[in-house]
Amino acid sequence: MGVAFVAGQYVPISSASIPITDWGFLRSDATYDVVTVWDGAFFRMDAHLERFMRSCQRWRLDPGLTPAQIAEILSQCVRLSGLRSSYVEMICTRGQPPWGSRDPRLALNQFYAFAVPYVWIANEQQRGAGLHVMVSDVQRIPATSVDPSAKNYHWNDLTMGLLGALDAGADSVLLVDAAGNVVEGPGFNVFCVSHGVLVTPNAGMLEGVSRRTVIEMAQSLGLPLQLRDLPADELRAADEVFLSTSGGGVLPVTMVDQRAIGDGTVGAITRQLVQTYWAWHKNPAYSLAIDYAL
Ligand SMILES: *Cc1c(COP(=O)(O)O)cnc(C)c1O
Repeated sequence: MGVAFVAGQYVPISSASIPITDWGFLRSDATYDVVTVWDGAFFRMDAHLERFMRSCQRWRLDPGLTPAQIAEILSQCVRLSGLRSSYVEMICTRGQPPWGSRDPRLALNQFYAFAVPYVWIANEQQRGAGLHVMVSDVQRIPATSVDPSAKNYHWNDLTMGLLGALDAGADSVLLVDAAGNVVEGPGFNVFCVSHGVLVTPNAGMLEGVSRRTVIEMAQSLGLPLQLRDLPADELRAADEVFLSTSGGGVLPVTMVDQRAIGDGTVGAITRQLVQTYWAWHKNPAYSLAIDYAL
């Protein structure tokens, strides 16, 4: 059910483990990225590798590998797993400084990776009917404290928000910034269709590769688009709402805070974008086929 790359070795996912003293575990001191495989090919590998290297730089982490070497390790994880559709994660942790030292500069950074079956953030029923999402009271960690544009495991705000939303009977959660603008949720960006215009937040969130794909699809389909602040009240009153993530692409939202969005069914623009998202997986510019025979 998956293969991991740990300490330079490929191992079955069930026996992959990291040292308990790695600051990736003790301090959430790590960065990561997730690229997906669909029908035996990576989707937008270059964009994910580029972002991973940028995230590493932002947190002063060094994976000790070139993007080409990382791509080969990820391919080998998928190849050995035999998975045709896969969720492939690359991670760089701080590692641990020499015993007795607490100087992060002295730590030997570590690289890990794994390939597991494709992960959907929304199940089949939710993708058909649309998700019910709550806007949380939990504020996203300010961008001045932890830069949200570099992937990180500072997920306590996202996880507590998600627990609150699940307890209230919703499927997932969106967090706001200090000004009450919606920013993002646990592993996804958000869009709405407001007065005929696609709107997505432009600050305080990770620049998702799926978000970028939606932006490019909008441009190619001639859909008007604005990158700007998105007040929670505007989202609640929108005609359509959807999420974007490598964990499922474009995911429709048909209810926000117990109230129906539009007529409560998946909107026409959302449906068009879902279809285009999967069609674009066949575009050779975005697709990197895996040679399973090697
Ligand atoms: C990874 C992630 C996203 C979505 O990014 P994709 O590249 O589209 O998968 C959005 N928000 C957060 C906090 C994330 O970690």
